Amino acid sequence: MQDCIFCKIVKKEIPAEIVYENDDVLVFKDIKPASPIHLLLIPKKHIPTFFDLQPEDSKIIGEVQRAAATVARDMGLTKQGFRLVSNCMEDAGQLVFHIHYHMLAGRPLQWPPG
Ligand code: 5GP
Ligand code: ZN
Repeated sequence: MQDCIFCKIVKKEIPAEIVYENDDVLVFKDIKPASPIHLLLIPKKHIPTFFDLQPEDSKIIGEVQRAAATVARDMGLTKQGFRLVSNCMEDAGQLVFHIHYHMLAGRPLQWPPG
């Protein structure tokens, strides 16, 4: 999608610190980290929100979650772990309307979140 900032990152039209990439998924560092490790995991396909998911997108979303495990393993997080969260729509604080998961790690995280 033309005006989507994450689609521009997928197309390498704007820079990002990419840490993992495959045919379906891109993982890059959040520009404003909320924890020592704060990555964004996105499907390369432009899907605005979970409400827009089609049956054929199930594999892609599965691939995003599998990429989370791959990246976390590569970063040595198998013991400490990580949090994977996705904000959907206004009350959750979604600012970028291209589905993404935040991977937060590197410090103890509070629960429930604010
Ligand atoms: P949301 O609030 O939609 O769940 O999260 C959007 C996230 O994208 C925020 O954490 C924000 O810091 C991050 N972000 C916004 N614009 C950019 C950008 O141009 N590059 C990168 N790397 N992260 C961005
Ligand atoms: Zn997009």
